[in-house]
Amino acid sequence: MDLLQPHEVTCPHCWERITVTLDLSEPAQSYIEDCPVCCKAIAVSYASHDGQVDDLSADAAD
Ligand SMILES: [Zn+2]
Repeated sequence: MDLLQPHEVTCPHCWERITVTLDLSEPAQSYIEDCPVCCKAIAVSYASHDGQVDDLSADAAD
């Protein structure tokens, strides 16, 4: 199973759809990623279960 999976989220700053790569080897993670469109910080958090993403959110981090 490939534990690095691309998923789409909506940037909370510019509302563009962007793709983030999630590492599903961890049951839950949160990290800061810069939006590739507007370069503002996004707090990405998610939980995973059996290689499926359960709860993915992207919030403004500043
Ligand atoms: Zn953005």
